Amino acid sequence: MADKLSAVKGMNDILPPESARWEWLEGQVRSLMARYAYRNIRTPILEHTRLFVRSIGEVTDIVEKEMYSFEDRADKHGDAEHLTMRPENTASVVRAVTEHNLLYDGGKRLYYMGPMFRRERPQRGRYRQFHQIGAEALGYAGPELDAELILLAVALWRELGLSDWRLEINSLGQPDERALHRAELIAYLEQHEAELDEEAKRRLHSNPLRILDTKNPAMQALVNGAPRLIDFLGASSLAHFDSLKAMLDANGVPWTFNPRLVRGLDYYNLSVFEFVTDRLGAQGTICAGGRYDYLIAQMGGKPAPAVGWALGVERVLDLLKEQGTQPELPAPDAFAVVPDAAALPQVLQCLQALRAAGVSVQMHAPAGAAEGMGSMKSQFKRADASGARYALIFGEAELAQASVAVKPLRAGAEAAAQVLQPLADAGAWGPGLRQM
Ligand code: ATP
Ligand code: MG
Repeated sequence: MADKLSAVKGMNDILPPESARWEWLEGQVRSLMARYAYRNIRTPILEHTRLFVRSIGEVTDIVEKEMYSFEDRADKHGDAEHLTMRPENTASVVRAVTEHNLLYDGGKRLYYMGPMFRRERPQRGRYRQFHQIGAEALGYAGPELDAELILLAVALWRELGLSDWRLEINSLGQPDERALHRAELIAYLEQHEAELDEEAKRRLHSNPLRILDTKNPAMQALVNGAPRLIDFLGASSLAHFDSLKAMLDANGVPWTFNPRLVRGLDYYNLSVFEFVTDRLGAQGTICAGGRYDYLIAQMGGKPAPAVGWALGVERVLDLLKEQGTQPELPAPDAFAVVPDAAALPQVLQCLQALRAAGVSVQMHAPAGAAEGMGSMKSQFKRADASGARYALIFGEAELAQASVAVKPLRAGAEAAAQVLQPLADAGAWGPGLRQM
């Protein structure tokens, strides 16, 4: 036998019945986004490498070591392009919004769902292909958008039945305020140079703020003692932050101020936030975001403010499981039992009409062509395993009367009597089989 192939490390198949949980989550998100008037955007998975280098920042974990990048084949002029599989989607959204001039008539509220790629060490909650759902509000400067996005996430947690989270917020201020803080931060870190790990030493002068985002436990005390960015903010930055907090308070959304929250990407300013849980171990951030008022201009667009977040689908589903919140898994309404293959043309016709009437039906089918349809007993076993509430029996006696027998399979499914229904009229009696 040929070798068995397996998926790439850190990249997972999402199989039934697990995939039903994904569809359920995506359905909840679509419904909620519609109520907040966020519209769907879909951008390509491959982008020019420089898009991410320019937006996420050269001295970040993602750009330094996590991107799946490659040189494309040369075109007929001999030029090969450097391409990258998107590690996140905000950069692509900004690129698309700028390229198509979407902000020409005012702000846009957008959302996306899809796979992202980062070459990290695979572990629980950290994969090399993972999935994000994100929401972005572009062209709006006010803190009410930061609040709207946070409230949207809170509404999603409520509708999913997810309760074990806390919200951490911080403000990164504006570039001039960051510059003042940066000088003090470098001075502080230089005084403690011996305690810095290799990565921090490397970043000391290129991107010292990044050091505050370290995952190294040995550096936590050092980071905790570092000058706080919030102490360098002017009145206008503080006012923006204060109104966000007031809007969260008015809506009963609990938050904690975390002065060390800086996020792993360079493009943020003013509000940043993370929804965190303690129930997923080290990978406890389920959703993260903030303002990026300078990114659009930095990507060559007409200057416009923006704010957004992205949630990690795998982590959200894991947390739901951890909490014991399980969506109902789908089962067909009915299972078609077909004793004799000669009936198949008529069976298919009847099932087609049932499905057109909104009934979900699974048809019995044998594994091999030579085996015949199999015994009634084995077919009923499969009907039970399918979770269907009714068996539709297309037996010789029923077909002789141009009918099908409808047999309830579950206790409590109406009076357990089997009834005959006319084959030709499935559109009329079919809807009665549907789950209420
Ligand atoms: P972390 O600090 O956990 O590495 P991050 O700051 O790199 O996260 P973002 O780029 O802000 O994460 O991505 C938003 C969300 O996407 C995260 O909060 C997390 O839920 C999820 N996420 C990020 N990287 C991964 C990954 N490799 N596997 C699974 N989910 C991920
Ligand atoms: Mg990361």
